[in-house]
Amino acid sequence: MQIKSKLPDVGVTIFTVMTKLANDHGAYNLSQGFPDFDVPPDLISLVEKYMHSGHNQYAPMQGVPALRERIAEKIADIYNAEVNPETEITVTSGATEALFAAITATVRPGEEVIVFEPAYDSYVPAILLSGGRPVYVKLKYPDYHIDWDEVSDAVCDKTRLIIINSPHNPTGTVLTDEDISALKHIVQNTNLLIVSDEVYEHIIFDGLPHESMLRHSELASRSFVISSFGKTYHATGWKIGYCAAPASLSTEFQRIHQFLTFASNTPIQLAYADFILKKDVYLELSTFYQQKRDLFLSLIKSSRFNPLPCHGTYFQMLDYSSISDEPDIVFAKRMTTESGVASIPPSVFYHGKDDHRVLRFCFAKKDETMEKAAEILCRI
Ligand code: PMP
Ligand code: GLN
Repeated sequence: MQIKSKLPDVGVTIFTVMTKLANDHGAYNLSQGFPDFDVPPDLISLVEKYMHSGHNQYAPMQGVPALRERIAEKIADIYNAEVNPETEITVTSGATEALFAAITATVRPGEEVIVFEPAYDSYVPAILLSGGRPVYVKLKYPDYHIDWDEVSDAVCDKTRLIIINSPHNPTGTVLTDEDISALKHIVQNTNLLIVSDEVYEHIIFDGLPHESMLRHSELASRSFVISSFGKTYHATGWKIGYCAAPASLSTEFQRIHQFLTFASNTPIQLAYADFILKKDVYLELSTFYQQKRDLFLSLIKSSRFNPLPCHGTYFQMLDYSSISDEPDIVFAKRMTTESGVASIPPSVFYHGKDDHRVLRFCFAKKDETMEKAAEILCRI
């Protein structure tokens, strides 16, 4: 039996492809974004405690109340915003689920969504499945800033949503207060909604503030703000995230969420509800990853790769144009199979496959992994 594909242009994600290639060839895997070090042992003990004490059945659809309350307290604490844990927070099975629910809850056939490219790969399929049309605005290479005049020109009567991602995967750029002012200007007096992918909210460098939509009431009032515990607690495999949105938007969000997964993992939610109280863990994350970024940069200093600025996330973009003029996909695959270091070719994050001869490297790795990978990169 054959069915006509609803996503004919979508293949297997680059993360799956590159991780498999790395595993098949025993390469150092700096491609897919996940740490090669473990979750804090105290957090594992908490999950174990809740599993052993009988918390193994469905959680409430919106999320475990204690976790929603703690998320709301944390948002009040760090972004000075009031979010009602009863009506404005939904715990999801990772940010991926939250993004899908937010996009499908809002976009109708024929409506347009502003997507900045390079774009994380889960946004566009959700737009297409909703019958929407992605309208692409390119971040300006090489510093990947937003040209807000282009955004303004792209907005029209049909525009329903703008998808923002800061700190940005794959480029490592972050929104500045000028960006926020420009965004406020564009959305004022419109019905535009914002999906703000803030999964790297605690991984931001050089003393820069994280410009969450939640800090700005005029933006928060029209935003789905999405985060992921996977990034903050080195637990990408646990797939727990959340969405904070005004009650009217959360109601629509939950109409989708309840039929996507209904509810997310109970003992892990309970464990996070306790662990989130250890503020140092997330407050120290930027320093932890800034040291990793700086170590990676110092290790590859004598190589022929040229780093692009990275102000957040755990990804470093490296320009390889002085080594090869091969397309990024070809070069990334060859480097994995022949040299033993895997990375991500960013052209896959552009609908037109734009190729600037750069690769994305994940530095959420043990120092020794980075040392060994960098030794190879310095020989290429
Ligand atoms: N958005 C971005 C920008 C990401 O990098 C990721 C990570 N992997 C996600 C969303 C998805 O997060 P999760 O693993 O919690 O589904
Ligand atoms: N967000 C991770 C990355 O950018 C991968 C997530 C996934 O594999 N779907 O590498």
